[in-house]
Amino acid sequence: MLRSDFHIHTSFSTDSNAPMEDVIKRSIALGLTDIAITDHMDYDFPEDVAKDAGGNFMFDVKEHLNVFTKLKEKFHRDINLFYGIEMGFMDNADDFYNNLLKTYPFDFNIGSLHIVDDMDPYFQKYWDNMGSAAAGIERYLSQMLSSIKRFKNYDSLGHADYIFRVAPGKKEYEYSEYADYFDEILKILITDGKALEVNTAGYKYGLGVPNPRPCVLKRYKELGGELITVGSDAHAPEQLAYDYKKCEALLKELGYKYVFIYKDHKPEGYTI
Ligand SMILES: [Zn+2]
Ligand SMILES: [Zn+2]
Repeated sequence: MLRSDFHIHTSFSTDSNAPMEDVIKRSIALGLTDIAITDHMDYDFPEDVAKDAGGNFMFDVKEHLNVFTKLKEKFHRDINLFYGIEMGFMDNADDFYNNLLKTYPFDFNIGSLHIVDDMDPYFQKYWDNMGSAAAGIERYLSQMLSSIKRFKNYDSLGHADYIFRVAPGKKEYEYSEYADYFDEILKILITDGKALEVNTAGYKYGLGVPNPRPCVLKRYKELGGELITVGSDAHAPEQLAYDYKKCEALLKELGYKYVFIYKDHKPEGYTI
């Protein structure tokens, strides 16, 4: 059974109002045994995008850790809590993230791409600037590729095909259309010992599949990839473990037997 949620936001994230304690209580009620709090940290978030988004996707880690530590103590009999973060890849953020990871006792960090060429594909401006959906998708995937070639200090690659969640008129694709990008991305993950995240928010957005799509998860396995983490990308307690039954069935169908949790950046698998 799927019993870990390793992608969760709380009110420390610009785009969430969920108190950390409510998130933990709901996770316990759902029967989850292991969760990681992974609030957004997007270093060097572009100012004009921050205006549209209502914040700059940074938080005070000291204060965050303080709240987390107290709750971990309070609920330690009920659930295993892991200290995580979702770091947005940025060309000039590597030193900042490396330093952060050295300074604070994170168990797990998701590396994910939200900002490309100082624009956020969540907003129309990105697509207007790229000229077409096809160009915007390719630019995103090539930026992800260059990010993971350069930056190696993350545990799991978050929502690898996120761009198809927001691309206008292009929510579905065949693996063959983007095989060059995805093959290279997946091979780098495997060589570097990184996990691929299965993000169930795809179901929440009505895609009918997680991010990345089953074709990517299938190919990762074919190439020898075993490390997967699963998370709902919840921004509210009711989104925790979103469509986990569907996700579990899909993973089993694809032949995955284990899902991984991370403690002190080390993967531990459990049988699903
Ligand atoms: Zn994200
Ligand atoms: Zn997220």
